[in-house]
Amino acid sequence: MISVNNVDKFYGTFQALTDVSLTVQQGERVVICGPSGSGKSTLIRCFNGLEFHSSGSIRIDGIEVEEDSKDLRRLRQEVGMVFQQFNLFPHLTILENLTIGPMKVQKIGKSEAEARARKYLERVHIPEQADKYPGQLSGGQQQRVAIARSLCMETRIMLFDEPTSALDPEMINEVLDVMVELADTGITMVCVTHEMGFARKVADTMVFMESGKIVEVSPPEKFFTNPESERCRMFLNQIL
Ligand code: ATP
Ligand code: MG
Repeated sequence: MISVNNVDKFYGTFQALTDVSLTVQQGERVVICGPSGSGKSTLIRCFNGLEFHSSGSIRIDGIEVEEDSKDLRRLRQEVGMVFQQFNLFPHLTILENLTIGPMKVQKIGKSEAEARARKYLERVHIPEQADKYPGQLSGGQQQRVAIARSLCMETRIMLFDEPTSALDPEMINEVLDVMVELADTGITMVCVTHEMGFARKVADTMVFMESGKIVEVSPPEKFFTNPESERCRMFLNQIL
């Protein structure tokens, strides 16, 4: 479970998050949307210690997220993240990209790591790409490798930060399809995305942010038909 309580976040003097509170239950699928600069990336980066909140508290499965905490390593084994840019190692094969984390961080043996890697490549429907290098794959395939890489860490929570926004339109669906399948596995998912078709399919809860604040939290049925705030209504009108 992710428990965010009254979180503020400053970059220098600029306040990027203001009094943000949010609870994500185990197995819940949450989609966060909102205009550019509203703090979506900042918020989810605070969930795995890529950024640190300035005040308030964030707890992930009971682990307090704090700078310099000795629990950060454990935290990162519970929370995986997929970025807009795939961040694969270009000089490693796909298989090596998938095995390096489990071998280095989790200290599992090579053959077990490879078996795991092949299992998750299968899961994202590109088992035949194992021995290629990232540069030889399409954007959609590379993003599916990035998802598989995160799955290889077998974290209980997966964060997605606009995973399809760097992709050519024809590749977006192959990635969203994999994410929909993943949503059915019971993993806890928090996705920042403006793919509202995807959101309608998988979200248990929709979150709308603006200017560093959470403006609306509601189930998709309500969110898409009858949002509370005028801001949210206007935003949806623009993107739908
Ligand atoms: P987008 O939809 O464009 O990705 P976002 O909702 O993810 O936007 P954030 O990236 O979280 O927004 O940024 C929130 C605010 O914090 C923005 O005004 C941004 O300029 C600022 N910000 C983000 N990262 C930093 C940083 N490292 N240093 C200073 N300001 C930052
Ligand atoms: Mg962002």
